[in-house]
Amino acid sequence: MSESTSMAVPNEKGSCCNCGASPTVDIINRTTGNLEMSLDTCGACTWGEADCLDPENW
Ligand SMILES: [Zn+2]
Repeated sequence: MSESTSMAVPNEKGSCCNCGASPTVDIINRTTGNLEMSLDTCGACTWGEADCLDPENW
């Protein structure tokens, strides 16, 4: 995954497979807006930072 072409967006329909939190993380192509990857984990579990529970900090 490249930081320059991809960005994380919240998936409000998902719940984390690890801790049950919502939203989960979707990765979209910054240029095309296409979904590249849909993760099963919330921000905090994806990045290992409690601050990342809030999509504002992605
Ligand atoms: Zn989680």
